[in-house]
Order: sequence, then structure tokens, then C-alpha cells
Amino acid sequence: MSVSGGKDSLATLLIALERCPAGSVVPIFCDTGNEDQAVYDYLDYLEAALGITITRLKADFAEQLAAKRQFIARDVRTRREYRRVPKTDRAGNPVYLRDKAGAVRLFPVLDEDGESTGELAPRQAKGWDGGRKVRWSNKAKRRALSVMFPSGNPFLDLCMWKGRFPSRKAQFCTEELKRNMAVGFQLDLIDAGHRVISWQGVRRDESANRRHAKKSERVGPCLWTFRPIVEWTAQQVFDFAAARGVQPNPLYRQGMTRVGCMPCINCGKAELRQIAVRFPEHLQRIAEWERTVGMCAKRGYSTFMADAHSAADRRQVFADLNIWARIEWSKTTRGGRQYDLLQVLDEPAACASAYGLCE
Ligand code: SF4
Repeated sequence: MSVSGGKDSLATLLIALERCPAGSVVPIFCDTGNEDQAVYDYLDYLEAALGITITRLKADFAEQLAAKRQFIARDVRTRREYRRVPKTDRAGNPVYLRDKAGAVRLFPVLDEDGESTGELAPRQAKGWDGGRKVRWSNKAKRRALSVMFPSGNPFLDLCMWKGRFPSRKAQFCTEELKRNMAVGFQLDLIDAGHRVISWQGVRRDESANRRHAKKSERVGPCLWTFRPIVEWTAQQVFDFAAARGVQPNPLYRQGMTRVGCMPCINCGKAELRQIAVRFPEHLQRIAEWERTVGMCAKRGYSTFMADAHSAADRRQVFADLNIWARIEWSKTTRGGRQYDLLQVLDEPAACASAYGLCE
């Protein structure tokens, strides 16, 4: 039973403790190293209130970092990497596709849905750019090797190893820090001769990705998953815990809609604003991490919250997307151009729960 310190895993844990024989529930917590102290304190509270022991699992990337250091130090590759880019002539004018007779070819113009608009237009030819070296430059090597040592923090070590922060499209943090740790723990139990039912606090109304989540599944030999609250709402989850006299994580009363990494790489404007007001020390830490992980990146920078950016100059990209710039962005209205003056005036209230937990 994976416990995150959040409301859903709490309700699932309470159901498991009620239904299963004593001693057969094994709660685990996968520590990412990017959590608020309130989460660790809350786990201690749960252990005392429910009379259980929660096994803490923490990923260790010391081996991977040592291997990466060796790889960077010995890197002597001579290959270049090329990209396809729109072609221009020496004067910088676009080069269009032409037919065999040398006339510019015209192609149907498509709308956003891919339907023809009935108009015709030329199409720019594409060619290969000059390429760039695959090898780490000596300067980048010196920079990376000066900081790439295990810090003992799984999230930071993972990012130093990968040379970047995770993103929505490359969400390796969940995989490396949570899923692999939990699955490894379950496989060890199976190897020791146990049958494992992985209880998961997943609800269908949480997100579009989870709307088809099944209540139970057989994953492999001796391994099943069970999701007892899959049809519940967030309110039912809080009510269930309240009926059993167990407090929810105090972070819900401080404007957080979810409990986990502080902040998460995917967190929205409202949550980032709350963190900036209530937990500025975490943002200071993220700014430090951006500096360290940037030094471990071949291109020299990496930002915690990634976004599309058209600038070619990496200093410009970093200036626009670093954590302090993202906090400024979080104070703006939709579109990111105008300041939301009412939000800027926001004082941290005693309870800012998005779930109406205020009494
Ligand atoms: S997706 Fe967010 S909450 Fe999950 S591990 Fe990554 S940063 Fe943490």
C-alpha cells in the first residue's frame, strides 16, 4: 500500500486496515526528496494514530552519477548531429520547392483541422543545418564534473544524472522516484514467497487519464492491483477519513490541491502562487537546483518548469523560464501578459483549502 501523505492514499489505507488481517498491510512511502516537512510530519502522525509502520523508500543514483562522470570525462566522440531546417538563400530569402521546369510549385493551404481552404501557396524547401558536435566540450566537461556528485537528495541526483529536469512529456521523476521503487519493493516481496495486492488510492474523477481506471487488475504472477475508491469523489474521501477521526494532511488547508512534490513540475499558476506566498524557502531551493542541474547539462542550463520557447539564445530561454520568472508569470491572468491585481494583493489566509476544509 503506497502512502503519499495525500487524502486518497489515506482513505485507501484506512479501508485496507479495516478489511485485511492484522500484519498483512505493508504501507510504503516513496520519498522524492522534493517534499515539504509537513509530509514527513504527517507520516509520523499517521504511524502514531493508526499504530502502523510506514516503510520509507528512497532512490539512490550514486552509481549512475559515477558512470555518467566517467562517460563525460572520457567522451571523445567526433560525430555531429544535424537538424532539418527551412532553407534560405545567401540573402536570407526563403527557398521554395520548384518543379522540373524550375517554376515555384503551389500546394493547397490547409486549415487547423487539416481540411483544404481552397487556396494555393508555395512551400519552403527544407535542408540540413551545419550540425553540432555530439561530444561534450571541454568547458562543459569541467563545469559538469565540478558539481556532479551524489547529494543524497533523490530528486536532485536524478536531475543531475539526466542533465535536466523532468517535464510533462518526459516525466521520468514519477517513474524513477516512485514507480520503480514501489515495483522493486513488491517484486522483493514476491521473491520472498508472498502474493502481493497493490492497493492504490486512484479515483476516476481525478483526471482524464484516470477516467477508465479499473477497480482491480491482475498485473502478473502473484501480483494484483486493487483500487477501492475508484468511484469516489474528493469530498467522499475527506468525509470517510473524518468519520474515522483521522486528520487530513495540513497542506490541504494551505491552498494545496494535492500533496506530493513541493512544487511539482506540472503545478498550475494558483498552486505556484500559494507556494510563493507560504513556502518561499522551497523556491529558493529550486533556484539552487536550477543552477546545479544547469551545470550538469551539456547546453549549460535547465529550468524546473519547462515550456516551449522560440529563442535560440539559451541565456534568453533561461531568463524567461527560470523559477523566479515562472512565479512572476503565476501572478498574471490568462495569456500571461497582464498582472492579476487582486491576486497580487492576496494575503495568506488561515485556510485556503481548495476543498472547502475551512471550518
Ligand atoms: S510528476 Fe510532480 S509529483 Fe510526480 S514525481 Fe514528478 S515532480 Fe513529483
